[in-house]
Amino acid sequence: MAEPLFPGTIVSVVGAGTMGSGIAHVAARAGHLVVLFDAQPEALDRARKAIAKDLAFLVSKQRLDAAEAEAILGRITMASDLAATARSALVIEAIAEDRAAKRSLFAALEAIVADDCILATNTSSISITDIAAGLRLPGRVVGMHFFNPAPRMALVEVVDGLQTDPQVAETLIATCKVWGKTPVRAKSTPGFIVNRVARPYYGESMRTLAEGATDPATLDAVLRDCGAFPMGPCELMDLIGLDVNLMVSRSVFEALGGDRRYAPSLVQQELVRAGRHGRKTGYGFHRYGEGVAAPVPTVEPPRGPVPPTSSHPHLGLLEPLVKRIVAGGVEVQHVTSDDRSHLHLQAGAARLMLGDGRTATQRAVEEGDPDLVLIDLAADFARTPRVVLARADQCSDAAWRDAVATFQAGGIDVVRIDDIAGMIVIRTVAMLVNEAADVVTQGIATVEDVDTAMRLGTGWTVPPFDWADRMGAKWVAMVLDHLRNHYGEERYRVAPALQRRRWSGGKFHA
Ligand code: NAD
Repeated sequence: MAEPLFPGTIVSVVGAGTMGSGIAHVAARAGHLVVLFDAQPEALDRARKAIAKDLAFLVSKQRLDAAEAEAILGRITMASDLAATARSALVIEAIAEDRAAKRSLFAALEAIVADDCILATNTSSISITDIAAGLRLPGRVVGMHFFNPAPRMALVEVVDGLQTDPQVAETLIATCKVWGKTPVRAKSTPGFIVNRVARPYYGESMRTLAEGATDPATLDAVLRDCGAFPMGPCELMDLIGLDVNLMVSRSVFEALGGDRRYAPSLVQQELVRAGRHGRKTGYGFHRYGEGVAAPVPTVEPPRGPVPPTSSHPHLGLLEPLVKRIVAGGVEVQHVTSDDRSHLHLQAGAARLMLGDGRTATQRAVEEGDPDLVLIDLAADFARTPRVVLARADQCSDAAWRDAVATFQAGGIDVVRIDDIAGMIVIRTVAMLVNEAADVVTQGIATVEDVDTAMRLGTGWTVPPFDWADRMGAKWVAMVLDHLRNHYGEERYRVAPALQRRRWSGGKFHA
């Protein structure tokens, strides 16, 4: 185990913008003497004010006493000459996301600092290997990817370039821990862990919109309420900035050799072309501003009467839904049979089943029942305020009404989406698991680090490998196979780490 950097040693931060000022705050709070350098003197002024404001806020919330806050500020020196970084044990670069600027800064730093000084970069998208290439001592260059706002976000991705000395990364991991952060380790790869694994959250969502399956407000509500994601994808892209999100998508797409799985969506490109960049421009997927009502999801109007309902007593994941229907006063007859054709919920004329990546229309033919209605996945069927249903093209209006009325009797709102393969939550979860499994296959990060990164970096309460272990690798791989058959696209190929568990039955988490 490597030792952390000693408190009291000098940590320099180059670039005093949003990230640099936050990182300077973190290092000074951990007891380091901090030198903060920026090419723009005004940036240093702004940084000092921003750090002082953050500290004053912590004092007002009694999380810090005033004397400590003053001492922290006192440990930060603003520098207008890069030479002031000379005695640092660690320099963290947080200048603009520009490859040439970063490479020339690291070359300049190499001539200033001692040979044992660690050189870290907070880049979000540039290869660590590339930044280090050509330096005299490339082994000391490492990624240290903080999240915004750095003082509040616990996650730090510590990223090894191809030439990074493992001891250097381990020293930063140990240092992050004593700074109160949660480090995860990744190999230099486009998007590292969080920005890579999250790509399908945006990509699949925009595909459902492009296919006209639903509208942005409903899509957001479904992924929030059924998928247990803290924010829907459209509201999240609006917050990040559609232009910024598109830039990350493009950079991951290009860096991964133009793999179509990461192709930026036309939906997003058109919004950006129209100047609809999200919250900051007052309009993205949704409208913002004074007096603008929050977007409302579309739900089915009340239907009735409730038809006679029956179900197999062992419906697996769907059992809590049946319990809620029963609690709503619906009599559900149990059909006890070993016959597979009874493994569903029969609401009047409608045969209801959990989706599996096929459309209801295809499955209705394969099940030999035109009145088929599919149910999308929910993280918690016992509590979800809504269920998402898709009906087969052959399904009768009467059967559809029966399906809707049955859930409504259980106090559950029904969202109808068009009959697209994989619905919304199912395809999103399957693709997130698959992306995470690819990261593991390629040795970029461990299963534990991927889930930790997604939990802390995105706030997902059910991170990808928890979903995988809950649903089973076999089920996830089957969904992907169905999506691949349906679209005929490489995009849905199954990652090797998932394929292996599909056949072995093994779980991702030990
Ligand atoms: P920013 O624009 O807020 O700040 C960049 C600062 O660097 C500016 O003050 C600028 O004057 C200064 N600068 C630019 N070139 C310089 C140079 N050659 N020498 C010295 N100073 C220079 O940017 P930011 O959002 O803080 O991002 C900084 C880095 O952190 C980027 O690499 C970015 O990709 C990464 N990052 C950003 C976020 C985020 O959410 N903003 C999150 C993680 C990582």
